[in-house]
Formats: sequence, structure tokens, C-alpha cells
Amino acid sequence: MSTPLLVMKFGGTSVGSPEAIARAVGLVAEQARQRPVAVVVSAMSQVTNRLLATLEAGEQGDAEAVESNLAALQRAHLATCAELLPQDRAGGVSARIDEILDSFARVARGMLLLRERPPRAVDEAAPTGERIAALLVSEALAAFGVSAKSVSGTDLIVTDATFDGANPFLEETAAKASAALQPMLDEGVVPIITGYSAATREGIPTTLGRGGSDFSASIIAAALRAGELWIWTDVDGILSCDPAIADDARLLADVTYNEAAELSYNGAKVLHPRTLAPLAELEIPVHIKNSFHPERPGTRIFNHRVEQPGVRAITSLSGVALISIEASGLSLSGAQLMARALECAAHAKVEVLLMTRSSFRQNFCMLVRSEDVAAVLDRLREELALELAHGYLHPIEVDHSVGLLAAVGEGMRGTPGLAGRLFTAISKRHVNIIAIAQGSSELTIAIVVNEQDLRTAVSAIHSECRLGRGVSATQRAGSERS
Ligand code: ASP
Ligand code: MG
Repeated sequence: MSTPLLVMKFGGTSVGSPEAIARAVGLVAEQARQRPVAVVVSAMSQVTNRLLATLEAGEQGDAEAVESNLAALQRAHLATCAELLPQDRAGGVSARIDEILDSFARVARGMLLLRERPPRAVDEAAPTGERIAALLVSEALAAFGVSAKSVSGTDLIVTDATFDGANPFLEETAAKASAALQPMLDEGVVPIITGYSAATREGIPTTLGRGGSDFSASIIAAALRAGELWIWTDVDGILSCDPAIADDARLLADVTYNEAAELSYNGAKVLHPRTLAPLAELEIPVHIKNSFHPERPGTRIFNHRVEQPGVRAITSLSGVALISIEASGLSLSGAQLMARALECAAHAKVEVLLMTRSSFRQNFCMLVRSEDVAAVLDRLREELALELAHGYLHPIEVDHSVGLLAAVGEGMRGTPGLAGRLFTAISKRHVNIIAIAQGSSELTIAIVVNEQDLRTAVSAIHSECRLGRGVSATQRAGSERS
């Protein structure tokens, strides 16, 4: 059998400077000597923010901001090109960077003219940073003696037409991506793929949403049935807690797909929340590594039995809001009310992060991201207009000052007393618990507290469960049983 493919994804900071790109190139070259490799790149750090800000400035009619952003984008990329590449290559590549930026500039100036920012045009222009990064990486590899070619995600990943967060069709993508990439791989060429970008069946460009190039990499890895996916980033891997909250946060060497997915869904920033879905089913292992310190072990994500009982990591999310709905009498069916509310969220394409219900007083609440509140409320007020007008429902309440924390671990399953310990630890620090949820998979206990108490609650659980460094696994296990 031929050697399985390795997909390597480099995040924004891992290609964020000439030195970083040179390091990335070294890492790719080392692997490409041993096995087939495909690379997925993000834009250089901050570039996507700047591109999107330029388009917003266009919509607002701010010509000065548009032009100064365009100039800054050009300066930064050309400087990187000049520093990264040998002179004989840099000239031609600079001209191609200018071409890529010119087509972006046309879109931005068009928006300026129309004072409009159509989502379809945004998705076409947004992956400009990825296009340049893929060009720079492939040219730097070629200069290094590794044959490489940049490939656009629009030619590989097939999605629906949900702009700024498109959903991939995996089977069609597998066919399209292998038809495009397999011949290159067979010839020993390393494809350098633009992350974040995709296209519909009709070829209309889409994006996978902010931070979506992790998802691009996992879609490509699944499509090509890769042996492994390595995600190169600027942190050591998945930690037991945000190190800005607990300075003794510990690096987790191995986590399961479920644990990693729960952690990223509930606020851990290492991975885009959708990354793991295409991989888990095919059991393609993921290795998260720090491109600034490639010698460090990183975190491996794969299916395995978790020996350690109890919580493995704790994560938190702010910028969320709790929407509460309460019937004023018992004349409305709680279940129907919840069904209608969920329908509203689904229609508004809003993700409900947590939902809880008290059964006697017909009251329930949904946690959503702050930026989604207006969209859900509009739908809810429309859907429940009659009930609200006639007083069957209390006015819908929204609490913006909340935060979510989640304790995650496969070993939480069937550990009695765990929830009690978490709640006690939080209450000892005088933090009030607003809502609680645990799914029957028992993988996560999610707790809503006041936003200002979030850090206190997270660090309380981190130390109660002895997740920090300097605690051995046996001590942790012992403490879980005590
Ligand atoms: N460059 C895109 C962003 O900043 C995609 C990514 O980096 O994952 O959102
Ligand atoms: Mg990212």
C-alpha cells in the first residue's frame, strides 16, 4: 500500500511573517521527503480582518479608509515577498500579488460606488489573504527545492450557498478534490490550498466562515482519506484551561474527538468548532502543534479509552446572552412553546448553545451568542405575537451579562457526585449559578453564571478538579474519587 497522505494546515500566525513562512516551509519540506503532503493555509495574521474592514469602509462610503487599507495590504505582502524569496523569484511573485490585490480592490471600490456590501461579493473577496499566502508558501517551497503548486479551495470544496459559513457537501467534495489533487500528489507535487474558501456546485465562491481554514483542512483530509491532519498554530495544543485564567493550565497530550469538539464548541479557541466532524467518522487523527516550537509534543486528537475519571478540561465563553420565555398561566403547552422557540432559532440560522427548562412554571431559557440575539428576538416576537399581546406570555427577557463555562471529559460519565463538587466549588467563591445543562452523554456540564464571575468560576473548577500542572495523574484520579 502507498504511504498515507499527511495534510498540514498553517494558521495565520504560522504564516504571519517571512520568518514564520520560512519555518513552515522547513516543516513541510521535512515531511514531503518522507510521504505525500498537502498543505492548507490561512491568510497572514490580521489580513482577513483588514480585508473585511476595507469592504465595510466601502459600504460606508469611506474612500480614504479603503485606499489606505489597500495600500497597507500591498505594502505588507510585498515586503514579505521581498524578504522571503530570492530576488530572481520575488519580482514575478510581486506582480502576481499585485494582480490578486487588484481584483480585491475592484470589489472594494465597487462597494464604495454602490454603498452596498452584498454577502456574495464579500465571500468572493474575503479569501484574498489565503490566495496570497498560498502563493508565497508555494514559491518559498519551490525556492527550497520542493515542487509545490497553489490551488484554490473554490476548485476543491463544494458547498451550499450560505455565505460566510457555507456547509460542505462531503461526497461531491471528495470527488472534486481527489480529481484535482491526486494527479499532483502522484507526481510528487505538494498542493498548497487556500483555506477558508470554497464554491457552490455552480461555482459561486463561498467561505466557511471566520476561522474556517481549520475546517477546510479537515474537509480536505477527509476527502482524500488522509492518514493524519496536523494543525500548526501558535499555542502548544489544547490546555486544561485558558492560561490567562489559570497560570497552571496543563497541556493535554491526548484528547478524544468528542472532548475536543465539546471544548471548541464551548469556547476553546484552538480549533474551529466544525473541524472535527468530517474526521471523527473516518477516524483520521489530528495533531495540534506549535509552529513556533515544533519540538513540543502538542495535542493528539483520536479515539481512545480515557482512563482518567472526571473532568479533563474547562473552557468558557463570553459574549453570550440568555433569552427567557415564560408563560403567565398554565394554558400554554410548554413543549409546544419550546418547539416553536427552537424553530425560530433554526429559521434565523442561530445556534442555541444551551437550553434549560423548569417544568412546573412554564419557563425556559436559551443561550445564544450576543450577535444573534436580535435575529432570534425578531422571529420570536413575530411567532409569539398573539400570546404576547394577550398576556399568555410574560414579555421575553434577555440577559446580556452572562457567560458560559463548560467542564468536559469522557471520564465524567458515570462519576457520581461530580456535578455536586463543581457546584460546591463555584458557590464557595460566592458565584451564583443561573442555569445548568448536562446532556445524557455526560461528556459536558455547562453552567451559566454572571459574566463578571466567569473567570472566578472557571478557576474554582480548575483547582477543585486539580487539573493544573504539578498534579500527577494518580493524585488527580485519587481526588476524583474522594
Ligand atoms: N483567514 C480567515 C480568518 O481570519 C480564515 C482562517 O484564518 O481560518 O477568519
Ligand atoms: Mg484560525
